[in-house]
Amino acid sequence: MIAPRKIKLEAKKKRNENYEFRIYLKENADEQELDEQFYRLHKELFTGYDCSRCRNCCKMYHGSIPETDLARDAEHMGLTEEQFIEKYLVEDDRENGYQTKNIPCDFLKSDGNCQLGDCRPESCKKYPYTDQPDRWSSLYSVLDIIEICPVAFEIYERLKKEYGWRYRN
Ligand code: SF4
Ligand code: SF4
Repeated sequence: MIAPRKIKLEAKKKRNENYEFRIYLKENADEQELDEQFYRLHKELFTGYDCSRCRNCCKMYHGSIPETDLARDAEHMGLTEEQFIEKYLVEDDRENGYQTKNIPCDFLKSDGNCQLGDCRPESCKKYPYTDQPDRWSSLYSVLDIIEICPVAFEIYERLKKEYGWRYRN
């Protein structure tokens, strides 16, 4: 598995290759079978992987907080909703909610854990989405994710092997 700090560089080297493989999958993969392959590799590769030693997903993105989470998150942090917003968040028009003021996410602790604990957003819990359905329709976002997440990068590499696909440039 690639070290988290090297992922940007390694993914950049493979950007054209990864884009070509996306086209291959789009044209050749069976949607259901592809979901099953992603799911199986996700389970296999995340088992035993310690995300607290990576946290690229918290270091390289703003945290995205839906409006519906505000009351619960504010209570978790011992703040009123207004205080919580003022201290940590700015409005995010695209998502119809809020995002943290900073990158890395303001809720990332120095030990790699999230200050929001179990209250962290669903989007964080599901990241990198490689065990979620509709991977065939989401292959563009997979290309972005493999530039952040070492496990997703490795899943994509394993998929190339499973399909017997090789890059010819
Ligand atoms: S989900 Fe991926 S990017 Fe996030 S901490 Fe785990 S390995 Fe790193
Ligand atoms: S809210 Fe928590 S899990 Fe989500 S990006 Fe921020 S630190 Fe990471």
